Amino acid sequence: CGLIAIVGRPNVGKSTLMNQILGQKISITSKKPQTTRHRILGIHTEGNDQVIYVDTPGLHKEEKRAINKLMNKAASSALGDVEMVLFVVEAMKWHEDDEMVLNKIKRSKQPCILLINKVDNIKNKEELMPFLQEIGAKHKFEEIIPISAEKSTNIEPIKETVLKFLPENPFFFP
Ligand code: GDP
Repeated sequence: CGLIAIVGRPNVGKSTLMNQILGQKISITSKKPQTTRHRILGIHTEGNDQVIYVDTPGLHKEEKRAINKLMNKAASSALGDVEMVLFVVEAMKWHEDDEMVLNKIKRSKQPCILLINKVDNIKNKEELMPFLQEIGAKHKFEEIIPISAEKSTNIEPIKETVLKFLPENPFFFP
């Protein structure tokens, strides 16, 4: 089936991206701590294919607090349930929490597309290439796509790549 997890540290632009992928603002948000395994963000239909995008519970480096421990555990098991991961990071800003999220992705062994968001913020585009190479060398990503969720740049290639990597018959809700 077509279950995709969008992961990344807070503020990298996951919700903005989700709204662009779906073309409308239907992301479900909740104020409750996310101790559940999945939070469905939306369903994208393309012909007979349907892709369900889910958000994994918040990832926290600080594991001392019981609630954070619980959320990290839930996030890790959620990663094990999906078909593919979209890992969102911010252009030119690699953070230790990004490293932690990446390690969870590696452990999950899921195919992963790296999305370098907020490229509209980068004035000197030549800076971007060394950053892409540096992050790209950290893991075997299926694809690396520079995007701007806010300006809606390179959103179609994400959808196409996701559909390309999904199993033959994603489930379909009539
Ligand atoms: P989330 O916490 O990962 O879901 O991040 P949000 O989608 O809430 O975005 C966090 C902030 O980054 C918001 O202020 C967005 O407007 C901003 N943002 C998201 N995508 C982009 C982008 O492509 N370019 C710029 N410049 N800002 C962005």
